[in-house]
Amino acid sequence: MSDKRQWFHGKITRDQAERLLNPPETGLFLVRESTNFPGDYTLCVSCEGKVEHYRIIYAKGKLTIDEEGYFENLMQLVEHYSKDADGLCTRLIKPKVEEGTVAAQDEFSRSGWSLNRKDLKLDQVIGKGEFGDVMVGDYRGTKVAVKCIKNDATAQAFIAEASVMTQLRHDNLVQLLGVIVEENGSLYIVTEFMAKGCLVDYLRSRGRTVIDGDALLHFALNVCEAMAYLEANNFVHRDLAARNVLVSDDSIAKVSDFGLTKEASSTQDAAKLPVKWTSPEALREKRFSTKSDVWSYGILLWELYSFGRVPYPKIPLKEVVPRVENGYKMGCPDGCPDVVYNLMTECWNLDPGVRPSFHKLKERLQDISQGIGKRH
Ligand code: ADP
Repeated sequence: MSDKRQWFHGKITRDQAERLLNPPETGLFLVRESTNFPGDYTLCVSCEGKVEHYRIIYAKGKLTIDEEGYFENLMQLVEHYSKDADGLCTRLIKPKVEEGTVAAQDEFSRSGWSLNRKDLKLDQVIGKGEFGDVMVGDYRGTKVAVKCIKNDATAQAFIAEASVMTQLRHDNLVQLLGVIVEENGSLYIVTEFMAKGCLVDYLRSRGRTVIDGDALLHFALNVCEAMAYLEANNFVHRDLAARNVLVSDDSIAKVSDFGLTKEASSTQDAAKLPVKWTSPEALREKRFSTKSDVWSYGILLWELYSFGRVPYPKIPLKEVVPRVENGYKMGCPDGCPDVVYNLMTECWNLDPGVRPSFHKLKERLQDISQGIGKRH
């Protein structure tokens, strides 16, 4: 487990890679981030005294070398080519191990995302995340949230994906402020602080007496705008749910955990997937796409209009998937306008191709919001 991605060397140059793969040994390999094509990776393999560099293209949320075999993540790609050369000069035999987190630290400081540990004051724990505690802190006078990841293997996986997060910026995405990589391998991910906490708790604690239809629609639009932005950038979230949406002090909903969950959730076995939020094709064949995010968004809309209820109430978890596969859809939550319920059911079309895009959903929600505005 602990050496899962030790062949990943971050943003090193072609020359550095060649030096690392010396002395030559056929099948010795590493993966680096492409310097010529930001966002892509390069697989470097030593083969009969030479180093071959294969470009790994990141297209529509998947990775490919030959545009024939597509992979969800680097680990799957490496696993595949370890079994079979499949067109490469040799199969991948031995990973060139990355020495510690020093390289990652360098990379973050070069790109300006490395924060100084001395400037960060950690206060109390405010949440428990899947991978470690979330704390509230102070960074140079700004209140911040800090995700602390102590497990070295998990930290490594997150470091590799954090570069994606540094490229995304939108008012409805929880903004990354920077990272701190400690010498002992711990990782701190510093983000803006979202004073009103997670959306499910927000809905449950306040309920329908406090939150009116306009507020629900406002949250629905906030999330949809973030997702339309991710869609336009070919970025698949994979874990969209009201628990992964946070609410700011001025009541703006922002999507969190993008970039971080991508690699983490794909390494999870199917048993750990959030079944009630995940589309049938993603559960069945790990086919994650923007359209599987759209499915999850439909569930999130249902959560919103039911004020934080757990989806598929009264249906035993085991029965959810077979029933959904047979076309079962949740009913309209009490008080939810038909126009909004129609959107949910469209998101839950079993055929991903027929589901609306986030761009379309955004337009429809804007229309609904203006319509409701006129009636008042
Ligand atoms: P994970 O995705 O690893 O399970 P979360 O990101 O959901 O962890 O964080 C767990 C909890 O910590 C959230 O439910 C929320 O209450 C709190 N939290 C996380 N990030 C922030 C933030 N930026 N601002 C305020 N609270 C946060």
